[in-house]
Amino acid sequence: MVSDPFKDLPKNAAVQNGAAPLRKSIHDRHRPLTLCPEAGLDWSRPGTPASNQFGDIYFSVEGGLDETRAVYLSACGLPQRWQNGNGQDTAPHFTIAELGFGTGLNFLATWQLWQQSGQEKSRHKYQRLHYVSIEKYPLSKEQLRQALTHWPELADFSAQLVEKWPGRVRGYHRLHFANVSLTLIHDDVSAALDSAALQADAWYLDGFSPARNPEMWAPAILSRIGELSADGAMIGTFTAAGAVRQGLSGAGFDVEKVAGFGRKRHRIQAVMRKTSSQKPMPANPIIIGAGISGASLARSFMMRGIIPTVIDPDDGSAASGNAAAIVKPRLDRQDKDDSRFFLSSYLYALRAYAGSDGIRSTGVFDVAKTDEHTMRFTDLVELASLPSDHMVWREDGPYGTSGLYFPKALIVDPPKICETFLKGAVRVKARVKVGGIAKQDGVWHVCDFEGNPLAVGSHVILALGDGARDLPMLADQDLRFNRGQLTWVSGDDGGGEMAFGAGGSLTYGGYAIDCGDGVLLGATHDPIEPDQMQEDVYESCEQDDRKNIEGFAAISDAALTQIDKPSRVSVRVNTAQTWPVIFKNKLGMRAVTGLGSRGFVSAPLLAEAIVSDIFGEPTAIPSGLFYRAL
Ligand code: SAM
Repeated sequence: MVSDPFKDLPKNAAVQNGAAPLRKSIHDRHRPLTLCPEAGLDWSRPGTPASNQFGDIYFSVEGGLDETRAVYLSACGLPQRWQNGNGQDTAPHFTIAELGFGTGLNFLATWQLWQQSGQEKSRHKYQRLHYVSIEKYPLSKEQLRQALTHWPELADFSAQLVEKWPGRVRGYHRLHFANVSLTLIHDDVSAALDSAALQADAWYLDGFSPARNPEMWAPAILSRIGELSADGAMIGTFTAAGAVRQGLSGAGFDVEKVAGFGRKRHRIQAVMRKTSSQKPMPANPIIIGAGISGASLARSFMMRGIIPTVIDPDDGSAASGNAAAIVKPRLDRQDKDDSRFFLSSYLYALRAYAGSDGIRSTGVFDVAKTDEHTMRFTDLVELASLPSDHMVWREDGPYGTSGLYFPKALIVDPPKICETFLKGAVRVKARVKVGGIAKQDGVWHVCDFEGNPLAVGSHVILALGDGARDLPMLADQDLRFNRGQLTWVSGDDGGGEMAFGAGGSLTYGGYAIDCGDGVLLGATHDPIEPDQMQEDVYESCEQDDRKNIEGFAAISDAALTQIDKPSRVSVRVNTAQTWPVIFKNKLGMRAVTGLGSRGFVSAPLLAEAIVSDIFGEPTAIPSGLFYRAL
């Protein structure tokens, strides 16, 4: 039964029947985290959807696709600029930035041209198209599907976009389609451009008309476009408005007025005058650590055709070596950078794991143990920061519980996921720990404690999990270490299987995962001081098994018996703020840590952000987020 969780809870501060106000609407609180505002679409006009908010059309009624090709692709010198390259073999990517993603028509036409002009089979194995698009009113999945049915010749591309579409979820979303990466920034244009770090080779300026949509063409926006442009960047747009011409000229572009498309008399196109940006060279990176962080880094490098060397000091991978891990969203009521990151990273992780044989099961039920939990879950459902097919309030939970059900959340098999991501990387299985890392003449050398060389490369990234405590350079950072023990119990609670169903999983502060050959209960959570950490920290204890069993008993009447499988202990690393951190020292060495118990949620997107940063590609998360200088 799926029922209305709000039915007994007043939603606003209005006094009801003379009683005191019971609950302030969550929407009245400071910056609640919701979905983006809806795009009000009017389908009554032929040839194009129109916007109710702006009273304007999404694309020309005289042939949207032809308009796209003339006004954006051709104006930006495409596909010739892709074919000519930049005269050197070192341009690993080409970046297009767009203001106004709308229905995605411009993106799909660009991707089609990229494919038609042979770029998907580029002789530069590391070549990639980055398409970054900003949209404040994203379409819902259904609206997108409907808008794109109009273009049968783009059907193959549209279907893939619709499948991966994040809906109206706020923040950054990176979607990969072979060697095309789409980064959607669901935010107002001004905040989005402020948070972005990119060097665009081409711009599509496609807000609604300047008269109806002035924020998209404000002088500050045009000047920021100048700052975010690479040498020789070209601009395509449908407008010829004088203020836009002047703004772009002031931002460093040579602006030209040319014949417009269809009924429009004129439009402008522009080329950036400045000569500066040099894109980084290709690389042979070294990753230290083969847990989910290191494996995700390897995945992001290999997507770009770059083979990393991965050193795993322990020949095994701490918390990534558990039998199961949960991939479920961390939901917040307030709209903050880190809350958005957790939504984006959850959606990114689902896309990264899709189709993998490392998925054990789908669907996680989060039990509301107290009235306070019920209130919080009720708020979260009301705010709906994820589309409704991602979370449902249910009153028919296992053992008579109520709670939030996440139908798309995953239980994954950590070692399998890591192995899949690491496939193709050069592996150095060092029995001993890494003893030294030094940079000489621009080259990194990694050796063991006896000084024996382990690897040589262009970049070093440490992804060490709790091994971070051995790093003197991180000694003064606010890292916290927590010991967690898992316990195996019988998968039969009397009725033949667990009440939450075979293969099911429950979270309740702790968690219970039916792995088939037993139910995994986790995890205890005990802070430990780095200097207290002896090797015996990894030894399991009966007291913690009892704690896990009691945690489960608090939400169920099941009588569980422990089974004969070792209770595994691992140590998780958190920051004081409970979000991850990417350290970067003056020589360019990076360390990623602080993923806590959510490594399988955040590692793939963090890795993508780090690899993009290394190559000077557009940011995959707001620029600077989580970066800390050492
Ligand atoms: N390029 C789109 C396509 O291929 O379908 C058409 C874009 S439509 C002409 C303009 C877009 O700008 C709309 O999707 C609208 O929601 C978006 N927009 C308007 N104001 C905005 C703002 N302040 N910040 C971000 N996006 C905005």
